[in-house]
Amino acid sequence: MDEKSDCIGEFDPNIPEEGPSAPPPGWLDSVEGYEDPKDEDCPDQICPLPPDFVLQPEQDRNASVPNVKVPQVSEDVAREALLQFVGKKWAYSSKPAQNLIFKDLRPFTVYRYRLETFTESRSSSWEHEIYNGQAVDGAQYGVVPPPWQVEVQHPPRFTDMVQKVRVPHTASVKTCYRCRGKGQARCMHCHGRGRTSCLSCHGVSHGRNRRCTGCHGRGNRVCTWCHGSGNRTCRKCNGNKKLLHFIELKVTWKNQVYEFIPDRQPEFPVKKFEKVSGEAFFTDESVLVYPIVGFPDQEICDASKEAIQEHLTKYSVVSRILQQRQTIELVPFTRAFYSYNGKDYDYFVYGTENRVHTTKYPSSCTVL
Ligand SMILES: [Zn+2]
Ligand SMILES: [Zn+2]
Ligand SMILES: [Zn+2]
Repeated sequence: MDEKSDCIGEFDPNIPEEGPSAPPPGWLDSVEGYEDPKDEDCPDQICPLPPDFVLQPEQDRNASVPNVKVPQVSEDVAREALLQFVGKKWAYSSKPAQNLIFKDLRPFTVYRYRLETFTESRSSSWEHEIYNGQAVDGAQYGVVPPPWQVEVQHPPRFTDMVQKVRVPHTASVKTCYRCRGKGQARCMHCHGRGRTSCLSCHGVSHGRNRRCTGCHGRGNRVCTWCHGSGNRTCRKCNGNKKLLHFIELKVTWKNQVYEFIPDRQPEFPVKKFEKVSGEAFFTDESVLVYPIVGFPDQEICDASKEAIQEHLTKYSVVSRILQQRQTIELVPFTRAFYSYNGKDYDYFVYGTENRVHTTKYPSSCTVL
């Protein structure tokens, strides 16, 4: 006796099983310049840069830094900044800071080199939306522009942004690949039968005086997903049976930044400089910039040469270089030596923000 399966209906053979989650190969027309991605897991296909967009730097060209005048922090200025900072920072134990005796304020020249390369890259992918009669910009309206000729609105220079645009004349309407144009698909939860096994009694036979209230003893109940019909509206086309396919171009602008500060103070973590600003005294901006020569700090010259080469190798082929900018900043940096209660201490003041770094400070226990 197989009471259970007798009660569960058969599925309607006209309603298909759900199709693939993405259009199968060959479903969409091929468009020149927009090749299908080779990797199925990554539907974005990078648009190769046309050869005439690849920049060729001029040979043996350099940039020189004219009239470098290194601003020096005077001891008076450094002392004033220091006292203000300490007063704010350690208000709870300002006594040592107020009464310490400065022995020396030693300024150091710290340069920061920065190279920014502003790039644009493009990738394409097939996208779709439900078709319900909207305008279709298809091939009959004109020739599809190659990826790098699709017009977009540029953001300001050196600003990160992503913009998505539909490639003109690539739209077409096709039968929904998921439901094969039926607008419905067989319910996956009940396999099209409209009823599912009862979860309360698991479809097991019942005693005469203990009838399952979940299924009234039938052993199965109406499928909650399809409300007993065995079919569900197609999730892809929402029952509209057709989809509008088009190529979407994703344009990505990115400011690639390289920064370098020579690490010359073993007692000061060079990473701390990343959080503070300096004063830019040299800025050089152009489509391509060239290595700095003749600057008194050779490490800065070397960094410039290396960074420019690195950015050119990294970004000039897969993306388009729109603009470059190199700057040299002077980052204020002073080491202060002082004594308090007969003991010697020191700390660093750095950045235009006058931040302090110290590993030892007279114990706050001496206060109160
Ligand atoms: Zn039951
Ligand atoms: Zn169902
Ligand atoms: Zn569908």
